[in-house]
Amino acid sequence: MKVMAQIAMVMNLDKCIGCHTCSVTCKQAWTNREGTEYMWFNDVETRPGVGYPRGWEDQDKWKGGWRRTAGGRLVPRQGGRLATLGRIFSNPNLPGVNDYYEPWTYEYDTLLSAPASRTTPTARATSTLTGQHKDTIAWGPNWDDDLGGSMETLDADPVLHQMNLEVAKTIEYTFMFYLPRICEHCLNPTCVAACPSGAMYKRVEDGIVLVDQDRCRGWRMCVSGCPYKKVYFNHKTGKAEKCTLCYPRLEAGQPTVCSETCVGRLRYLGVLLYDADRVTWAASQKDERDLYAAQRDILLDPNDPAVIEAAKADGVAHSWIQAAQASPIWDLITRYQVALPLHPEYRTLPMVWYVPPLSPVVDAVTASGSDGENHKVLLAAISQMRIPMEYLAGLFSAGDTAPVERSLRRLAAMRSYMRDVFMGNDADETIPEAVGMTGDDVRAMYRLLSIAKYDERYVIPTTRTGMPPGITELEGCPVDYDVEAFHGAAPGATTPGAAPAGTRTLPLEVL
Ligand code: SF4
Ligand code: SF4
Repeated sequence: MKVMAQIAMVMNLDKCIGCHTCSVTCKQAWTNREGTEYMWFNDVETRPGVGYPRGWEDQDKWKGGWRRTAGGRLVPRQGGRLATLGRIFSNPNLPGVNDYYEPWTYEYDTLLSAPASRTTPTARATSTLTGQHKDTIAWGPNWDDDLGGSMETLDADPVLHQMNLEVAKTIEYTFMFYLPRICEHCLNPTCVAACPSGAMYKRVEDGIVLVDQDRCRGWRMCVSGCPYKKVYFNHKTGKAEKCTLCYPRLEAGQPTVCSETCVGRLRYLGVLLYDADRVTWAASQKDERDLYAAQRDILLDPNDPAVIEAAKADGVAHSWIQAAQASPIWDLITRYQVALPLHPEYRTLPMVWYVPPLSPVVDAVTASGSDGENHKVLLAAISQMRIPMEYLAGLFSAGDTAPVERSLRRLAAMRSYMRDVFMGNDADETIPEAVGMTGDDVRAMYRLLSIAKYDERYVIPTTRTGMPPGITELEGCPVDYDVEAFHGAAPGATTPGAAPAGTRTLPLEVL
């Protein structure tokens, strides 16, 4: 067993309101420069839809991720090392600007400088690539937003195809939800394997996947190798760029910008311990439907004394082990088993997981004349949800509906159980029992998913005890934070409503 630590994220999709604040603040922090205009390290997609870049999930077309050979070996779907070198000057598997979109701005200055006239001045659209006027804007990074373009694009949704699903195409009857996406900081990243220059790397200390700008030669094999299409090519510098998981903030114990600014408070960040010796085993499962379970299987219980000893022997810092023990990610993935990985069939072992959306099932059941708050009725109705379970399974469990159904049943059970608690009735312990949980588990899960405070959602160990002398805040980062709350609290101190000691006020230790 080789114990390693990974910073991972979970997003609770029921709480995403599709406001795009995460995308905009990320852009402001990281890609507000020449050459990065079209890049969205964080984007929010409306599902069903084709996403950004267009149809990124169609790996028959883009050849991203890994393929398992008949002999059980993993090779990048775009080809091994020799094939990659053979295509170094002509990579056929790259999205073009039309698949992303041609970025544009508006001539805002016209609004201020136009002479007096009988008509209102207009700000014409201009391409930020060519500087030319754009008379029509026919595609953007979120063209499906709120199903706005979906009547045109729905048929091209790769998940609908893969799951052979027909869905209603009238806006009143179809379903939708939001899917925010960032780089998955995978345990088995194809982008790293595909890079001929060795510029892409995964940090040993926290698993963040980065591009060494000095070593990058701009071959773009990482762009085609990534099945999530989360590496981008900067056409000004000629280098690859990607989500950094805001590592300068994480190193200071702060959450990523997208998490910090998330209006729905649906993002969770924390440490996972995993067995690096079993990564290849987990990614090479013969049956794609076993990949989710195998991935969960290599995560190590941070409270197991044998794991703690092995982690110390492998150089994992004490503060990181403590953070793993308080990790909301561990709880959501393993203890409650409500979070699922995005497209485990790509075999990259992604580290951003999702709690699937329950959708308005209570309203639907009530509208059909039944008691939507009755847990027996509610649990039975999960399979008739407005969002088809098969669609969610196509996203989160390689088509296997069982993990999705377990997650949704647990979320529905939490709703029924907590309703009794808040109505002053006796808690009905048969509800958690029906979904394989205890009442205490359900209460703890409710707290984490519904009302968790900042320090419970983000349990991030730092590698230092404070800012360098003379610096009072992270310069250059546009997202502010409460300096006093962060630096002022004594270890172990608690404030009303704050997390238990041992989360953000972890004893700090230099690695
Ligand atoms: S999601 Fe991120 S880490 Fe995974 S393959 Fe793509 S760029 Fe690499
Ligand atoms: S900021 Fe949060 S709620 Fe808004 S779109 Fe992003 S993930 Fe969803």
